[in-house]
Amino acid sequence: MLNSAVSRSKQEQTMASKDSTPQHTPMMQQYLRIKADHPDKLVFYRMGDFYELFHDDAVRAAKLLDITLTTRGQSAGIPIRMAGIPYHAAEQYLARLVKFGESVAICEQVGEVNAKGPVERKVMRVVTPGTLTDAALLDDKRENRLLALTFHKGKMGMAWLSLASGDFALMDTDAEKLASELERLRPAEILAPDDADLALLDNLPMPVRKLSGWQFDPAAAGRNLTRHFGVHDLAGFGVEADLLAVGPAGALLEYVRSTQGGALPQLLGLRVEHHTQYIELDAATRRNLEITETIRGEAAPTLFSLLDHCSTGMGSRLLAHWLHHPLRSHARILERQSAIGALLETGAYQDVARVLDAVADIERICARVALKSARPRDLSSLRDSLAQLPELVRVLPEGEFFKQLARALQPDASIHALLAAAILPEPSVVLREGGVIADGYSAELDELRGIQHNCGQYLIEMEARERERTGIATLRVEYNRVAGFFIEITNSYLDQVPDDYRRRQTMKNAERFITPELKEFEDKALSAQERSLALEKALFEAILDQLQTWLADLRLAAQAVATVDVLACLAERAALGNYTAPEFSDETLIRIEAGRHPVVEAQIDDFIPNGVDLQLARKLLLITGPNMGGKSTYMRQVALIVLLAHVGSFVPATSAVIGTVDRIFTRIGASDDLAGGRSTFMVEMTETANILNNASEHSLVLMDEVGRGTSTFDGLALAWAIARQLIEKNRAYTLFATHYFELTRLAQDYPTVANVHLDAVEHKDKIVFLHAVQEGPASQSYGVAVAQLAGVPRDVVRLAKRKLVELEQSSVRVEGQGDLFAVLPQPEEPEPHAVIQELQDIDPDELTPREAHELIYKLRGLLT
Ligand code: ADP
Repeated sequence: MLNSAVSRSKQEQTMASKDSTPQHTPMMQQYLRIKADHPDKLVFYRMGDFYELFHDDAVRAAKLLDITLTTRGQSAGIPIRMAGIPYHAAEQYLARLVKFGESVAICEQVGEVNAKGPVERKVMRVVTPGTLTDAALLDDKRENRLLALTFHKGKMGMAWLSLASGDFALMDTDAEKLASELERLRPAEILAPDDADLALLDNLPMPVRKLSGWQFDPAAAGRNLTRHFGVHDLAGFGVEADLLAVGPAGALLEYVRSTQGGALPQLLGLRVEHHTQYIELDAATRRNLEITETIRGEAAPTLFSLLDHCSTGMGSRLLAHWLHHPLRSHARILERQSAIGALLETGAYQDVARVLDAVADIERICARVALKSARPRDLSSLRDSLAQLPELVRVLPEGEFFKQLARALQPDASIHALLAAAILPEPSVVLREGGVIADGYSAELDELRGIQHNCGQYLIEMEARERERTGIATLRVEYNRVAGFFIEITNSYLDQVPDDYRRRQTMKNAERFITPELKEFEDKALSAQERSLALEKALFEAILDQLQTWLADLRLAAQAVATVDVLACLAERAALGNYTAPEFSDETLIRIEAGRHPVVEAQIDDFIPNGVDLQLARKLLLITGPNMGGKSTYMRQVALIVLLAHVGSFVPATSAVIGTVDRIFTRIGASDDLAGGRSTFMVEMTETANILNNASEHSLVLMDEVGRGTSTFDGLALAWAIARQLIEKNRAYTLFATHYFELTRLAQDYPTVANVHLDAVEHKDKIVFLHAVQEGPASQSYGVAVAQLAGVPRDVVRLAKRKLVELEQSSVRVEGQGDLFAVLPQPEEPEPHAVIQELQDIDPDELTPREAHELIYKLRGLLT
């Protein structure tokens, strides 16, 4: 997308450079001037009721939106290609373009129409994927983040910001963590300096915008940030002077300012994140565990889709955030856990959900208030939501944690009072139609509205008077939008029309007239309407201004609502799913009794619970068993339980005790990274390398079928070496599922390795999976039986069975051990030294003294 943006911009620039030549029409000159400022965006150029796109923009938009591309006339000898979208449907087209990763500059008519040249136009708003605040354009369950980054000597500085929530954070980390950080934060748009190593940023699913290097200048960024937050330096935020991420943070701030027409959102401050705060999950692990997206990229079934019964969008977004950021601090985890416990025990979670059902997305409304783009319904929703907060506070359980939340849930009562007094119960959707400000809020507005309301009465009175004066019983005095006010008289009475009537409009069966009196009334009424609309607009804007001072309060309230929402949701889940509170320990162990895979469990009828016992003396479990036996499910369930425990949630198990965990790694399943140009096996080995290089004794490692992507011997040899490394060097908590039965021997060589297996029984030519994890290695491979189950034709199955018997027999004959393990390098007995061999071969009692003497000479000789 970048390349096309660049080439596009070049072409437009050459066109723009011609704009001073007289051949271009004045309007095209204006367009090209505007376009030159936005070479990498689509320009929506307002013409009457349409936004028009021209030239390459038109071609691009026509393709993406499936709208008609036309060519109309020429400018400077170039045919003008155009594509238009109706003004009133613009939002829906914008939403689609943004989904495609496009950015749009919206150019409005700002001047008066005049005869001299084109109406003055200006870019009023720039919509980019990372800077959305419009309710219609945002996914309410997903945080929309903009991320900026730079690289320096193997390090990466990154800053990210969510306009909707006001969260602004930064962090320095290793450049190689790019993929996992992108997977964690999932930005909608990335900003990078144009001199950055862009190869790293190739083929990403989100748009990457290159900015000039100077926009990332740390000194300028530091000044900009301190000015914005009104602080002397950034140390108060915990930002150290040499933090690489300061440059990107400054770039973000400026970029946002430029897209919002100079306005800046309310930012909550600057937050420095450290890796040690969270359990680290690398990119592959986030995908493999299907936290918020399935491996196939779908939204369900995932851990998030299972858990998310939050009442508000704010709650859903916070839940997704929590799931991607499992905490390390046991104290903070236990705070959440006991809050969930209290909501559960008291049953308050149900009341919370009931109250929150009537609460709108306060967080996003605040963002629009800050940018002064809030609409009438935003304010009425805000008012109605604020009205719910006292009830929310009332239903919260006791305890210090909830007391703190309750404080945040009681923003200044004046906010609600203002909105209740100022905004109609159900205001109209758009401000320009009026019907937004409540009666009684402004005396002037009431008076203007009074004039309009009295209209009806006045018309009735006038009609009666004129009927009497003219003697025409069918005379009517009316108003419509097109004709204004008029007196209508049917053709048969035209001879009775008084002299002071002036003809206004001729109809088929009637004539419409106006009188000086009616004209005067019309002027008054129409101007009252115009003035009242203008006044409503001004009042609304003043209310938005007033709200600015309370934004911080409102944000805190929104955060508290989101927190209560998530906690109540997790409490409900614990109640419905029969989850228990996990315990934490300082010892080295992960002990789960009767654990379940939360997502698989929800999808099948009889899920068989399984426990796990990992400890210092038992750190690696080799898991064997038939395909489809449940190995992957088992491993993932352990990881998900550990993850959920660190989120603060209850877990699907009868009990769980978990020691310190620093990271979770997974190497599961085969996935080609074709876009990245890596084969399945390469992906597998890259992920494995990452694990072997980084897993510590506190890490949880899942290895599923490693070595499968290559030939049997290769794969077995690799799997064996990898397992040994994990046992000896990494000493991580490891679940190692393998179809190489030979590896089960590791348990004989290493005391910290244990074998477990999943079983199946053959029943009348069928195979029944038991799904129960048991101690010891599996006894049999059920590959052929599984093939039969899958519907492979009977003849093929029969043939395979025969071949299997044959192979097993020949392998016993040839290799003597009946398995492939014989081919692996065994710990070698060193060849004994010749002297030793010689010594072993003699019997000292049978030697004569002379022979003994000779032997000594011989042995001496062997030493040289
Ligand atoms: P494997 O990794 O051994 O090939 P999977 O973990 O993919 O097997 O499991 C295969 C299927 O078996 C799952 O899709 C699920 O339907 C079922 N399954 C797995 N574990 C259990 C369990 N504990 N109880 C019931 N069914 C299970």
